This record gives sequence, C-alpha cells and structure tokens, in this order.
Amino acid sequence: MDDCLFCKIAAGQIPSNKLYEDDQLLAFYDIDPQAPTHFLVIPKQHIDSAAALTESDAALLGHIYAVIADLCRQLGVAENGYRVVTNVGADGGQSVKHLHFHVLAGRSLAWPPG
Ligand code: 5GP
Ligand code: ZN
Repeated sequence: MDDCLFCKIAAGQIPSNKLYEDDQLLAFYDIDPQAPTHFLVIPKQHIDSAAALTESDAALLGHIYAVIADLCRQLGVAENGYRVVTNVGADGGQSVKHLHFHVLAGRSLAWPPG
C-alpha cells in the first residue's frame, strides 16, 4: 500500500532497527518502547488489522507466533514471560493501520490493560 508506514518499513524505504526478517515478515524494535524489550512483528504483505484476517492467513499467523517464540528465546525473555498484543481500530488503540504484533517483555505487565 502506497501510503502505509509499515509497508515502507517492510520495503526498506524507511529505516528500522531490525531484529529478524524473512520473505513473509519483519521484526523490528518499537520506536517508543513501553517495556525494556518491545518489538513489533509485521507481515510484509499489507493487512489492515487482525479484523481483516481470514482462514487463508492461518499459516502466516502460525509463522508469526513461531518467530516470536524463537526471538523471545534468543533475547532471553522467554523464561520470565512476555505479552503479545495486536490492537484493532480506534477503541483497541491502533494507530498504524497495518497488522502488527507488539511483543513486550522485561518487566511485570499489568492486567487488565488501561
Ligand atoms: P499501535 O498503536 O498501532 O498498536 O502501534 C503502533 C506502534 O508503532 C507504536 O507502538 C509506535 O511507537 C510504533 N511506531 C510508530 N512509528 C514507528 C516508526 O517509524 N518506527 C518504529 N520502529 N516504530 C514506530
Ligand atoms: Zn501496510
């Protein structure tokens, strides 16, 4: 999508602090971290949000969660735990309209979220 920040990051047109990349997805650190470890995982393909997912995205989602689990192990945060969040729409707090999964770790996270 032409005017999408995360499509531009996925295409390398806007720089990011990359953690991992393959043909399907990109993981990079959030510019405004909300925890000692805070990175985002995005599909390279533009999807508006989790509300636009269909059954045909099952393999992509499995891959995203497997990569998140691997990255958390590599970063040493898997043992203490972490949170994976995807915000949807205005009430969900979504500010970038390209599906992304926040991965937050390194501190005890409150529940319920604000
Ligand atoms: P949302 O509010 O849509 O759930 O999350 C969007 C996230 O993207 C926010 O946590 C915000 O800090 C992050 N973000 C926005 N612009 C950029 C950017 O240019 N680079 C990076 N690395 N993160 C960004
Ligand atoms: Zn996009």
